[in-house]
Amino acid sequence: MNPIARNLQSIREEIRAAAEGCGRAPGDVLLLAVSKTFPPEAVVEAVRAGQTRFGENRVQEAEGKIPLSGPGLEWHLIGHLQSNKARRAAELFDVIHSVDGVKLAARLDQAAGEAGRTLSVLLQADLAGEATKFGASPEEIRAILEAAPGFRNLRVDGLMTIPPFFDDPARSRPWFERLRRLLETLEAERPGCLGRRHLSMGMSHDFAEAIREGATIVRIGSAIFGARA
Ligand SMILES: *Cc1c(COP(=O)(O)O)cnc(C)c1O
Repeated sequence: MNPIARNLQSIREEIRAAAEGCGRAPGDVLLLAVSKTFPPEAVVEAVRAGQTRFGENRVQEAEGKIPLSGPGLEWHLIGHLQSNKARRAAELFDVIHSVDGVKLAARLDQAAGEAGRTLSVLLQADLAGEATKFGASPEEIRAILEAAPGFRNLRVDGLMTIPPFFDDPARSRPWFERLRRLLETLEAERPGCLGRRHLSMGMSHDFAEAIREGATIVRIGSAIFGARA
């Protein structure tokens, strides 16, 4: 079996075990295959193994890859998005995980409207309060939710976070728990404000912990495609 197909099979198995282990339905956890730095051929390999959702972290890289990867796939932008790339991002991607300000949301709304599309977006939370990280504080997230009813071409569908890196995945768990609690708090304040209530959290080394805290989208790159250069 092709290594990508084999890795996908074992990741799916681990997702199922983690979900069932905490009483969740495995089908409630979506696997996003993060193909950044890997060529379209790697995406095609994954598609042959049944994978349909892919994540990229840069607009420019995705621009070359998406058209070569085949039809019928769902593309998610998971990396930081600059306002000046909002237009292109709205044309290329189906879901944007990295919305972290009202201005960016407004740009995406306008761009999606011009492209005749509706975009699903997640709000990226900076829970560690690290100035070096992208993401919005809970106050900034509330400001976006306040503005959201005015966005006609965006659907806010949940939250995303990237915790600080720890070798021990158990140490990521408090961050995952914080994101889940933030979602619960925001939904209590404004019922329905987070649409499908997605929690995009967990990567190759810590996705099982994220699933135990309620992740509905896990973003997995190296465990599927191998180490990045
Ligand atoms: C690269 C990346 C991932 C995947 O990381 P792996 O450790 O390779 O699974 C997930 N989320 C974001 C935002 C990324 O940039």
